[in-house]
Amino acid sequence: MARCEVKGCQKSGQSGNNVSHSNRHTKRKFSANIQTTTVIIKGKRTKMRMCTRCIRTLYKSPTSLIAS
Ligand SMILES: [Zn+2]
Repeated sequence: MARCEVKGCQKSGQSGNNVSHSNRHTKRKFSANIQTTTVIIKGKRTKMRMCTRCIRTLYKSPTSLIAS
């Protein structure tokens, strides 16, 4: 399963159950919304797989990714 490459996030999928009205449980997966983006780290263009939450955070505060 794809994983967010941002340090301190590492968001991936989770597993859980579909629960029908008759209360039957069947396994399902919840996948994180991972997108491939081009980011500029220390003046270099780098492709990274990031979750959309981290992309949004990066857009709001571009210094947040420097730590990774
Ligand atoms: Zn993330």
